[in-house]
Amino acid sequence: MSSLFGLDSSDRLVFVSEVPRGLACQCRCVACNEPLIARQGTVREHHFAHASGREPCDVSHESLLHRYAKQVILEAGGLMVPMDSTVAGHLGLELSSAPSADLKLARIEVERSVQDVRPDLLGHTEEGLTIAIEVAYSSFCDLFKVDQFARQGLAALEIDLRAFTPEGFEPAAVRSAVLHDLQAKAWLWPKPPAQQEAVPPAAPSAPATAASTEAPKERLPEEIVTISGRWVSIKEFPSGDLAVRVITYDPDVVSIVKTIAQANYARYSPKWKSWNVPRWRAEAVRVELRAWAQRVSIVMQDGAGLRHVPSPFAR
Ligand SMILES: [Zn+2]
Repeated sequence: MSSLFGLDSSDRLVFVSEVPRGLACQCRCVACNEPLIARQGTVREHHFAHASGREPCDVSHESLLHRYAKQVILEAGGLMVPMDSTVAGHLGLELSSAPSADLKLARIEVERSVQDVRPDLLGHTEEGLTIAIEVAYSSFCDLFKVDQFARQGLAALEIDLRAFTPEGFEPAAVRSAVLHDLQAKAWLWPKPPAQQEAVPPAAPSAPATAASTEAPKERLPEEIVTISGRWVSIKEFPSGDLAVRVITYDPDVVSIVKTIAQANYARYSPKWKSWNVPRWRAEAVRVELRAWAQRVSIVMQDGAGLRHVPSPFAR
């Protein structure tokens, strides 16, 4: 299906309409390396075919779009990014009045792991700043990944390329969206104050006392509500979003959590087996889960491992 891209003589990924017609394109198949013919009839019919006449190799559009976008950034050595005071402050940049900045990257690493995350690109500026860049087509960064960026203090930008389907692919438009435009770009971390109440997850120092019954506003590392003897974990991210996960499997408890989550615009992450709740519904979800719970605890991380202390929210 993906005969829209080929590799040119210098191993660059090229789109079929960017090359000379026929064998003169001097392209090879991305998958099998066989010579390609660029067929350029009417625009809709542009595609590469194996010179041998073999069936096209099956390569996903997403992986090629991904690779194409990364190549565009690598070759340009930077890109325009949206800028706000939070990101500028984090990066130590002077904030001009412009809502954007031309980010020049002296060095760019592809798929380089940084502790637990492996961003699509890791860019380094002359000044020694490091920025993670994620290119998204069908899968977007989930809250866990955002949380990892936050923990590492690694500024991360996501570029949304959903518009560039096989039918909607236009090299100049992709270049423009990736390099110059701002509308498809958003910082995953750090977020402007409007999107994040900057309260670090404070470990509660003391178990519930009479004084703390007045619903403290502090952030909790993790809260465990026990429903029908089963544990349900509620974890809060720096953004204020929640991840709700049934720890001990029970079909009834799974069903309760699912009902509450869906009613509150949560999205299920199969990878983490958790419901991701947007921060504006976080409190509602906590309240509903606690209403089902016999016991509410906060998980404390200490030398002895995990232990449960009563939650100030316990009824
Ligand atoms: Zn092939």
